[in-house]
Amino acid sequence: METKIIYFTMNGIPEQAEFPLDCPAQDLKDLFRSAAEAGPHDILKLYNPKGNIINICPSLEPNEPGSCYKLEVVAADCNAEPLGAELAGALGFDLSSMEKRLQSLEKKILMEASETPEVVYEMKKQVDSFREKLESVEHLSWLGFFKDLSEGTHKPSPFYHKRTLHKTRKECEHVREKVLQMSSLEVSEEVRQYLKTPTFDNWQWEDAEIMVLLQVMYTDLDFIATFHIEPEVLQQFLFEVYRRYNNIPFHNFKHCFCVTQMMYGLIWLTDLRSKMDAIDLLIMLTSAVCHDLDHMGYNNAYQINARTELALRYNDISPLENHHCAVAFEILERKESNIFRNLTMDQFKRIREGIIKCILATDMTRHNKILNKFKSILSAFDFGNKEHKDLLMMILIKVSDISNEARPMEVAEPWLDCLLQEFFNQSDVEKLEGLPVSPFMDRDKVTKPSSQIGFIRFVLLPLFIELANLFPCLEQHIIDPVRKALDYYTEMEKALEKEKQN
Ligand SMILES: [Zn+2]
Repeated sequence: METKIIYFTMNGIPEQAEFPLDCPAQDLKDLFRSAAEAGPHDILKLYNPKGNIINICPSLEPNEPGSCYKLEVVAADCNAEPLGAELAGALGFDLSSMEKRLQSLEKKILMEASETPEVVYEMKKQVDSFREKLESVEHLSWLGFFKDLSEGTHKPSPFYHKRTLHKTRKECEHVREKVLQMSSLEVSEEVRQYLKTPTFDNWQWEDAEIMVLLQVMYTDLDFIATFHIEPEVLQQFLFEVYRRYNNIPFHNFKHCFCVTQMMYGLIWLTDLRSKMDAIDLLIMLTSAVCHDLDHMGYNNAYQINARTELALRYNDISPLENHHCAVAFEILERKESNIFRNLTMDQFKRIREGIIKCILATDMTRHNKILNKFKSILSAFDFGNKEHKDLLMMILIKVSDISNEARPMEVAEPWLDCLLQEFFNQSDVEKLEGLPVSPFMDRDKVTKPSSQIGFIRFVLLPLFIELANLFPCLEQHIIDPVRKALDYYTEMEKALEKEKQN
């Protein structure tokens, strides 16, 4: 099949799109839409090096990396003008400062995911009545300063279980007690085998049981014996890991478990134990366990735009992934939770290097770069070559990290709800703070199928297919279910369209 390659930049980052010569125009638009992470209503603009807008169509002139096109997305703007303080002052209302206070309160509530205090409703009522008074003054209405407030339909997302962001001591102690009552020996052979399959259903298990299942993984891969890990140290390590995953809808301890369990499944399905060192497998499993530690539910774009502490600390370079990794080694610094404490200095060094590489690879802005590199070595892949092996490890954690759609629908679909809940929460805060809103996180622009179709076609499948090129046995385990998910969401989209038309 003959293909065309188009080189372009998106936010200054070089990207490339490859598509067949006979690609339908709509598919091509969708391809660029997905590259721009744009919603269905956003306008895409493609510029040639001369700065002229060019049409995104199959006859697009192929170019060289040195003469990149520039892709821009014009999203429906959510950042209404802030309230005119001068105007409010002139009118004798302190509406501006009141609004600010209200916004900071609302933000605090969203961030801490706790219950809305009465005072917020009270203030909202007051602001509403002020606005009403102002709007009734006819000659002011054209100013439209108060439009933003009247669009109050963007209610903050339903608060996540009304729990605190960080786990409380009580919560942790409760789980620890439960874990201590259970023992990994009690896990039946049947469960141990089930644990090795990608069809495993995480929703059947509570957190304490999940911790025991993680212990089983370390045991059944012989890590305990090979690396002289004391069971109580492993337990303490996993407990600290549990404690440092926050109470957020998606990037929580259950997500940590799912990613780790998929990695574990892939290790068994591909018989990786016969191809790689135990230490590499230990790196991969532990990286999966630690890869989202202390995630607070706001992605890198938010961190950078809001100039958070993390973005400042890491100079906007993968702030989250750097943080997850740093927290992991903080836990490993302590003797009682350092599962690597009986290893030599050299072994520890190798593990540290490997874990850092794997966790940093989960930053999706590096997706194309890693995938393209992996593709380029695939035909001559050599397990004895360190560069090849490193790339494979990065691909494996990436696949595991975004593997929900490879799971049975009844396992995968609730995860999508969780993800959207976390996204919507972020975009609500972004709107409140006047920060740019990613279209794929905006509750007004995203539907379940629209969020998944492009992602599966242009991100998931291309990634999974390359891994299956190296391990053909994975086709049935991870590619078939993903194709089914694509069909499912395509049908759902059609149904939604129909509903809209009626
Ligand atoms: Zn993750």
